This record gives sequence, C-alpha cells and structure tokens, in this order.
Amino acid sequence: MTAKIIDGKALSHKLRQDFKREADELRLRGINPGLAVILVGDNPASRVYVGNKVRACEECGVHSSSHVLPVDTSEAELLQLIAKLNADDTVHGILVQLPMPAHIDVRRVLEAIDVDKDVDGFHLYNVGALATGNTIFPPCTPYGVQLLLETTGIDVAGQNAVIVGASNIVGKPMALMLLQKEATVTVCHAKTRDLAQHTILADILIVAAGKPGLIVPQMVRRGAVVIDVGINRLPDGRIVGDVDFEGVKKKASWITPVPGGVGPMTVTMLIKNTLSSAHRRGGEGAGIGSMGWDAPTVQGH
Ligand code: NAP
Repeated sequence: MTAKIIDGKALSHKLRQDFKREADELRLRGINPGLAVILVGDNPASRVYVGNKVRACEECGVHSSSHVLPVDTSEAELLQLIAKLNADDTVHGILVQLPMPAHIDVRRVLEAIDVDKDVDGFHLYNVGALATGNTIFPPCTPYGVQLLLETTGIDVAGQNAVIVGASNIVGKPMALMLLQKEATVTVCHAKTRDLAQHTILADILIVAAGKPGLIVPQMVRRGAVVIDVGINRLPDGRIVGDVDFEGVKKKASWITPVPGGVGPMTVTMLIKNTLSSAHRRGGEGAGIGSMGWDAPTVQGH
C-alpha cells in the first residue's frame, strides 16, 4: 500500500481564491476586512511566520497591519497597543505572534484581545466555547487539520483518533474538535508510557510533538490516516515533520507531507477567521456560538 498524499498546499491555494472573492464581496458591502499582527522581539522563526501571514492577507485581499515592537517592550505598552486595536473598527482580527519574551505574561496579553477579534482562538472565552462545541474562532492549526481530514472523505465519527502532543495550540483543541465530530479520542504526551501501544490503534493519527522521526512505521496501523503537524529544522537545513514520511507512507492510506501539508493550512485558516469576524461585524451572527467552528465546508474542493 502507498498512501495518497493530502495536499495542504493545493487545498490552501483553492481556499485562498475563494477567500479573495469573499473579501471582494465584503468590500462591496462597505466592509474592508483587516488583520493586525503584533510581533514583540526579533525571533527569526516568528518573523518568518508573521511574513507568511502578511503575504497570505495580500493574496486574499485582506488588509493587514504589522506592529513590530522591540524585545524590551513592556507588558503595559503591549496592552495599550491591544486596547487601541480593540477600539479600531477597521481591525477585524488581532494576532499576537507567540512565543513572547519571558517578561511578558502571555495569558494576560491573550485575555486582553477583544474576544470578537480573537482570530487565533486563544482567548479563554473561545477556548471554553470550543469545549462546548460552538466557538466562533477555531484555533487555526487544528481547524486546518479538520479540513484536510474532510478531503479524504472519511467520516470521523466512531473512528479511533490518536493525537500525539497535548499543547494548548494544537493537541488539546484538536482533541476537542474530533470529540465534537464523535471520534473516540486518545491524547498522548511526553509522559505517555509505550506510545506505540496507543498509536497502533489509530484509524486517524495526528502528530504534533516537535520530535523528528518520532513516528516510525511499526507504530502505525495499516490503512491509517496520518496527519503530521510537526515542523522541525534538521542540522542540514531540511524541514521535516515528526513522522518518518517515507516509511509510514507505505502503511498509511492517507498522509500529509512536510512541508506542504498542515503548514499552509494554518495560515489560510487565520484568513478564514478574519473574514468570519468581518462578516459578524457586518451583522451576520452575534456572540459566541452564533456560527459554530465547523461552519465552512470543503465539500467539492
Ligand atoms: P509544544 O507546545 O512543545 O507541545 C509538544 C507536545 O508534544 C507536548 O504536549 C509534549 O508533551 C508532547 N511531546 C513531546 N515529546 C513527546 C514524545 N516523545 N512523545 C509524546 N509526546 C511528546 O509544541 P506545539 O506548539 O504543539 O507544536 C508541536 C509541533 O507542531 C512543533 O514541531 C511545531 O513546530 C509544530 N507546529 C506546526 C504548526 C503548523 O502550522 N504546521 C503549527 C503549530 C505547531 P508534554 O505536554 O508532556 O510536554
């Protein structure tokens, strides 16, 4: 068996074309969708991520503003900027690029973002709404994974979904989303004993640990769907995921590559959430729970 490739780059491209049309339609109604991105410090990886987000906005006709602040910016200054952007009607989404410098309390910063502009979905209200199955801004990476899974045509309900990684931004929200879709969900983490004993049972295996080569073929059930969220730079400069792609693709039914799988989808879903926010500002829906995290669909893509 050789797995079919789940092409995140192609799906992303298609969705971005749709989003460009959606942004044009919003403008015709007098709403110019806008995203504000805040970066504190000069972490090289963060700069790349912010650049990707700004470029995706340009591609989709979404207005963007970047606020690049020096590494010694105080928490109070950062909170002031967020308050200004919260009050700015031309801004529909606010994203604070993580990680933040150590002197800043990330939780306090994320809580300061207007819940209606929290397009990363990290505000406690949105996290809580996700737990009850009706958030307005699903976190972008698991949201992208959800759409990639839909392209396989496999119904998640009743499947054994095993997630390796339990972070707040990937593993935990992914578990909640799959539970909402009626999968049977197992979440593994660094303290999980005998990881393979869990992964081998997965119909759907989602890996987000940040450990290259963590998942080898012996750990994967024949015919499983494997989604590799990991992004790791090897000493020779190559970017790889957490899954031994060449080995595992001989056992899986579907697999995402790295790069070109989950990565492009994460940025694309940020645009999706920004457009959702702009629609809501235009009067379509109000308050948490009005749209639901699975509002868009990729049927036919
Ligand atoms: P993180 O905050 O470091 O969390 C890693 C998770 O993996 C933790 O829950 C950790 O367990 C678990 N883990 C670590 N080693 C493990 C092992 N040997 N066995 C089982 N579980 C293990 O990382 P993250 O932010 O979630 O990101 C994870 C990976 O995804 C990274 O490579 C990151 O670059 C990538 N990522 C990609 C995208 C994308 O768009 N493609 C987006 C976000 C992240 P503990 O909780 O016990 O420590």
